[in-house]
Amino acid sequence: MHVQFCGAAQEVTGSCHLVEVGKKKLLLDCGLIQGRRNDELRNSEEFPFDPASIDAVVLSHAHLDHSGRLPLLVKRGFNGPIFGQRATGDLGRILLDDAAYLLGKEATWENRKRQRQRKPPVEPLYSDDDARKAMRRFKRLDYHAPREILPGVTLTLHDAGHILGSSIVDLDLKADGKQRRLVFSGDLGHRDAPILRDFELLDSADLVLMEGTYGNRLHRPWNDTYEELRAVFTSADARRGNILIPAFAIGRTQNLLYLFSKYYDEWELDRWSIFLDSPMAIRATDVYAIHTDLYDKEAVQVWRPHDNDRLLPNLQYCPSSQHSQRLNTMKQGAIIIAGSGMCTGGRIKHHLKHHVWKDTTHVMIMGYQAHGTLGRAIVSGADEIRLWGETVKVAAKIHTVGGLSAHADADGLRTWYRAFQNKPPVALVHGEADTMRALAKTMHDEDGAKAKVPALGETIDLAHVGSSF
Ligand SMILES: [Zn+2]
Ligand SMILES: [Zn+2]
Repeated sequence: MHVQFCGAAQEVTGSCHLVEVGKKKLLLDCGLIQGRRNDELRNSEEFPFDPASIDAVVLSHAHLDHSGRLPLLVKRGFNGPIFGQRATGDLGRILLDDAAYLLGKEATWENRKRQRQRKPPVEPLYSDDDARKAMRRFKRLDYHAPREILPGVTLTLHDAGHILGSSIVDLDLKADGKQRRLVFSGDLGHRDAPILRDFELLDSADLVLMEGTYGNRLHRPWNDTYEELRAVFTSADARRGNILIPAFAIGRTQNLLYLFSKYYDEWELDRWSIFLDSPMAIRATDVYAIHTDLYDKEAVQVWRPHDNDRLLPNLQYCPSSQHSQRLNTMKQGAIIIAGSGMCTGGRIKHHLKHHVWKDTTHVMIMGYQAHGTLGRAIVSGADEIRLWGETVKVAAKIHTVGGLSAHADADGLRTWYRAFQNKPPVALVHGEADTMRALAKTMHDEDGAKAKVPALGETIDLAHVGSSF
């Protein structure tokens, strides 16, 4: 009985852990490596196991850094079931569809270049057909409903409070006369976040795999963030300009719409027409609207989808590019929420081209912007940006609202860990090596935890966990 760290070991993305129980092999997550181009090239490498030998997968949540290599796993021979929470199935379908579309587009671009250079064409990592095949293997589970998914493996999901459907994976393992409880945190949410319930606490385990994304950071209080948002919306003049919001389609966008609904009067939102200009965000918002049983108590009160399924009286969806193009003529009074979140593609680039050069425009950046992205250039105060080969002046007011993270901070992670009454050994995953080493030290010194930061490929013997720590 053992667990091997096959991804997101000393890095954030590419979550993937292999659990072997007797003769059975179970994979926890199968995520894409995301980030710099050289890192992303690793996605096409061989898996460190034979995909056909895997008996089942458990998916902690739909984000691509956890789900994005599932179509490749299926393409390379995996033919077992994929278990996850119901909403993870719905969001997973949207995310994997989009990933396949983007991979296809990238390959087309690359092949045009290669043709000019007389090089043989490349194939995309996977197709939309592979993505659909993967999601057909998905088995929808509820939280708190134990299920024997393989002989000797009973799975229970608990709410992780990170995005809709996100789960803490709780495994009861039996083999060779031994029984072990392995708990994998998945990504843990930011407590008191809009819409979702807080992560659940578990009280015992033999080994914990815990994420450490923000293991050395503390978030600012929610109220400071709400105050910052209020200031932007009430100070902007709807009679003179527009507000552009590059959107992260899943999670962040729904949080923002929910806050719009909750603070509609305080933020004087009736002065604006609000446009959700992202097909993916629209689909995701529809999924959020279906799963109201997963909301926290306040969200059930605040965010009732209206009769016509609209969340706000002045919200309009722009499903097609014609809808989107019509916004180009709006000189004032529009709040435009459009993908992508880091302005690397999607419709936001068109809106930037039409409005970012005016000093009456506001741009609200709502999340982390990776190095080298257009979003990063904008938050760094660039005077001009490049759009489709054209130089465009940046005169708009840029606002950075950083407090809407979907991840627990160091306090949140340690609170979650301290609920385990038996102080189980903990392996930290899904974080930068330095961040997680700092977290491991704090947890050792202050929480009495045996914590380690396993290397890629490292194995822990579940029958003798103590010997690894
Ligand atoms: Zn996530
Ligand atoms: Zn993640």
